Amino acid sequence: ARLANQIAAGEVVERPASVVKELIENSLDSGATQIDIEIEKGGHKRIVLRDNGSGIVKDELALALSRHATSKITCLDDLEAICSLGFRGEALASISSVARLTLSSKPKAQQQAWQAHCEGRDMQVEINPVAHPDGTSVDVADLFFNTPARRKFLKTEKTEFSHIDEVVRRIALSRFDVSFNLKHNGKLLRKYPAISEQGNPIKRVTAICSKEFAQQSIELNSQYQEFELKGWLVPPSDIQTNSEFQYFYVNGRVMRDKLINHAIRQAIENFSDVESSFSYVLYLTINADQVDVNVHPAKHEVRFHQARLVHDFIYRALADALKQYFE
Ligand code: ADP
Ligand code: MG
Repeated sequence: ARLANQIAAGEVVERPASVVKELIENSLDSGATQIDIEIEKGGHKRIVLRDNGSGIVKDELALALSRHATSKITCLDDLEAICSLGFRGEALASISSVARLTLSSKPKAQQQAWQAHCEGRDMQVEINPVAHPDGTSVDVADLFFNTPARRKFLKTEKTEFSHIDEVVRRIALSRFDVSFNLKHNGKLLRKYPAISEQGNPIKRVTAICSKEFAQQSIELNSQYQEFELKGWLVPPSDIQTNSEFQYFYVNGRVMRDKLINHAIRQAIENFSDVESSFSYVLYLTINADQVDVNVHPAKHEVRFHQARLVHDFIYRALADALKQYFE
């Protein structure tokens, strides 16, 4: 079973940033509104995430660490089978197979908080009482300590942290209602306070992208039939900025997609050279039955049933906004 976890881990846990992504997604699933992340040495040494979500009851702690479709996989030949399963229900199991994982949790209704610890191939999960506020903490230490080949592939502290930073940024741009804090080596580097319903979302965009982005961007808000496109676009300019922010969300999930890129590019090129830099944070909302999202969590692919219509809608929305801006 542990072998299966380690194989799956190769897919789910590529680097510290993938651990952070899975842990944040779990916290969001649990209804957390506050997520604090502490990283040591680019995540090589330690990744700690704390949330104020629903928590995990004592009896389910061990289960949370071991939930996986084990019996199906006995050797490497079955690797493909794992891949096709996707990794749902496998993240914690996979992470714990290649690190020392401590899961502490307290649901509101439970008086006592409990902690589960397990490391590497050792299947034993120990459960002990612990002091912990409502919510869950996951502590991942010594990532890949038992898989030296993978450990060797880790990049510098700085590079691994920049990947983590990017993961947090992407998710924070999709959940304005949740507060995120990100520390590295004891320093609080990112602070994204929650934006209330009445609050101004540009505050978070400013915190995540930059003041320049917020100042130079035009706001978009287009509707057509069941499609909606909202967000911000910094018009193309010849002045090279050192940072481009290009984020496109489809129903709240960040996507990188040829069709979308093409539509954006086409709209931009009406008004600029191909070389110009431009930035955007855009949110497309579309009926869920109009779109297939690739189940592979590492791919950000999407398939629209009415591809042409979506393409032209995005193009039109951006072209109109830019036309207004440049006239
Ligand atoms: P999945 O998220 O696909 O179910 P995971 O391995 O990521 O699989 O998590 C296993 C289970 O552990 C989750 O289904 C959930 O019940 C529980 N869990 C994990 N993290 C948290 C958290 N932060 N808060 C509450 N429950 C959690
Ligand atoms: Mg999960």
